Amino acid sequence: MSDKKLPANLHLDTLAVRAAVAKSQHGENSEALYMTSSFVQPDAATAARRFAGEEEGFIYSRFTNPTVASMEQRLAALEGTEACIGTSSGMSAILLMCMGLLKAGDHVICSQSVFGSTIKLIAGEFGKFGVQSTFVSQTDVAQWQAAVQPNTKLLFAETPTNPLTEVCDIQALADVAHAAGALLAVDNCFCSPALQQPAKLGADLIIHSGTKYLDGQGRVIAGAICCSKKLIDEKFMPVMRSAGMSLSPFNAWVVLKGMETLSIRMQAQCKGALELATWLEQQPKVARVYYPGLASHPQHALAMQQQSGMGGAVVSFDVVGANPEEGRKNAFHVIDSTCVMSITANLGDTKTTITHPATTSHGRLTEVQRQAAGIGQGLIRVAVGLEHIDDLKADLARGFDSLS
Ligand SMILES: *Cc1c(COP(=O)(O)O)cnc(C)c1O
Repeated sequence: MSDKKLPANLHLDTLAVRAAVAKSQHGENSEALYMTSSFVQPDAATAARRFAGEEEGFIYSRFTNPTVASMEQRLAALEGTEACIGTSSGMSAILLMCMGLLKAGDHVICSQSVFGSTIKLIAGEFGKFGVQSTFVSQTDVAQWQAAVQPNTKLLFAETPTNPLTEVCDIQALADVAHAAGALLAVDNCFCSPALQQPAKLGADLIIHSGTKYLDGQGRVIAGAICCSKKLIDEKFMPVMRSAGMSLSPFNAWVVLKGMETLSIRMQAQCKGALELATWLEQQPKVARVYYPGLASHPQHALAMQQQSGMGGAVVSFDVVGANPEEGRKNAFHVIDSTCVMSITANLGDTKTTITHPATTSHGRLTEVQRQAAGIGQGLIRVAVGLEHIDDLKADLARGFDSLS
């Protein structure tokens, strides 16, 4: 699509800016936005060939649009996969993947620490249609192995997880999946391809919520699956065409432009997160810090190896509290004392966000499920943005200092 042919083996930073630029006939330098529902066909016979899949050509934006195609090709270039398919949200990427790969009687093994809506979708909605699922510990490969059944088709992990930042060994899970004749899907939201490329470690499908770091400025909802062209052609495009969980061209354009600054944002946000996590570990009002970049994290070595030596930009911590009520009261006090951070459950924004997982993202779980997931009432999650780190420390210190 670009007028010059890009050389092979370009670095990620270059691909993020240069890969898959969809140009119109006017030669604009910034990516064109093709905001149209359908495409005019030159004649009836060409239309017939395009609808039959005998000739390339844009038809209708439910399943073909040049701006969406640009975003897909750029993301595939960053993830190092053959292809990518854009979707209306991160959840609809998981919906599309499950619809394309699973049927009644099939079995999925899923980490018990994945995004809450992912658990609801796989266990609840797909359970209704006869898909079986087993949920296992994110970090214990033996549990994944033990859960394999003859009808296992898919293994699904997310690393690091939200909010406790548990890291799984992608390569080890890929080996378990492939020995079972199944596929491994990895939700790569938290790291993005700037830090972690699961395909290089053997993952077959990479799930994205473009809403997070790919957009990077909290503007749109978007999603994608990165995988082989064969899986897209045979499994996902037919579902997309019939079911229509399509990415809007406008949202695709925002994500496409967002990816240009992905790498530099991730590096700055990870640097800030490490500094904040290190400082939090020294605060007397903080009982425990969860951050893969800290030596105290149980999978620190694996995280450094898998995530380009960086811990990501999400830091969680427990504030002190003698019991759950006091933990919650103290956590609410720290959150309500902030003047800079946004109290919102989104992450991956340039604006730092702060949230209380037990009553927001994990509020739909029972207390027993929450405890099993390790999400206490004193837990706070901070997704570090691009503000000056001293201002973020001061924002939290205000709450710590005034805790009774
Ligand atoms: C936000 C998120 C999703 C869902 O993405 P949406 O774009 O909100 O649908 C899936 N997985 C993870 C890890 C997320 O953080």
